[in-house]
Amino acid sequence: MAATIIDGKARAASLRSEVAAGVADFVAAHGRAPGLTVVLVGDDPASNVYVRSKGKATTEAGMISGEHRLPATVTEADLLALVAALNADPAVDGILVQLPLPKHIDADRVIAAIDPAKDVDGFHPVNAGRLATGLAALVPCTPSGCLILIEDALGDISGAEALVIGRSNIVGKPMAALLTAKSATVTLAHSRTRDLAGHVGRADIVVAAVGIPAMVKGDWLKPGACVIDVGINRVTAADGTSRLVGDVDFASALPRAGSITPVPGGVGPMTIACLLANTLKAARARAA
Ligand code: NDP
Repeated sequence: MAATIIDGKARAASLRSEVAAGVADFVAAHGRAPGLTVVLVGDDPASNVYVRSKGKATTEAGMISGEHRLPATVTEADLLALVAALNADPAVDGILVQLPLPKHIDADRVIAAIDPAKDVDGFHPVNAGRLATGLAALVPCTPSGCLILIEDALGDISGAEALVIGRSNIVGKPMAALLTAKSATVTLAHSRTRDLAGHVGRADIVVAAVGIPAMVKGDWLKPGACVIDVGINRVTAADGTSRLVGDVDFASALPRAGSITPVPGGVGPMTIACLLANTLKAARARAA
């Protein structure tokens, strides 16, 4: 039987309406809307698209969207000064510095300069440490969105075998921490992992966050597995047309998986919805 295709777009829309309702309550209680400010350095086309859609989603949820566009030549000191000003601005609840940053800027230093209470990306070492130690934290948006989709599909995942492929700070590591917190038995695979196919074959849950088109083959999967494809890869066909594909070979996975996210329309929309949810969470915590 073919897998259930997980509709991330629809789930994200329902999360966004929940956030909008929460924002309306926040405005009624505090007389101001939560504010999310995005900082974009340079003119990377993909980053431009992300920033535009984040701004639109923020406004649609009833929040205040701020945007600072800096030239690619901006100095690290000037960027750090902007972050300090946003940290001090009481109307700003969430600060997001769009990555990647130009090579002459130390991204780790910039992330560490953001007030952890306003770190809606959840990349600050304080939030990463809080997540790892089981304390309340602002959690990175993509893995948060993946967890919602996994729990929608499977319910209680306690005791399930979960495989996360990819160990980045943005996706893989926080994903493994979230699954561990839900009592799944987690394996974290990466480029040095031996016998990846064997690991995939044992997993009830597979989260692929690698960046290699169609790397995970359908016949590797345990029948009925829940497959969450985080990868976003643009591939060009022989006729010159291009399209987005994930890290999982969707066509061969579909007949074998129990449930699977498509690319696009799976994890991607959840990332922005979770960013809005984090901004509301940060605003509530700051107002408390
Ligand atoms: P990174 O490049 O930071 O990390 C990739 C990870 O994949 C690394 O841990 C790397 O291992 C591992 N890897 C590389 N090759 C292999 C291999 N052959 N076998 C197993 N593991 C391997 O990527 P990100 O985590 O930032 O992103 C991953 C993908 O997710 C990308 O396609 C990105 O575009 C997408 N993405 C999508 C988002 C969304 O909203 N849907 C949000 C964020 C990312 P090692 O550590 O050993 O090098």
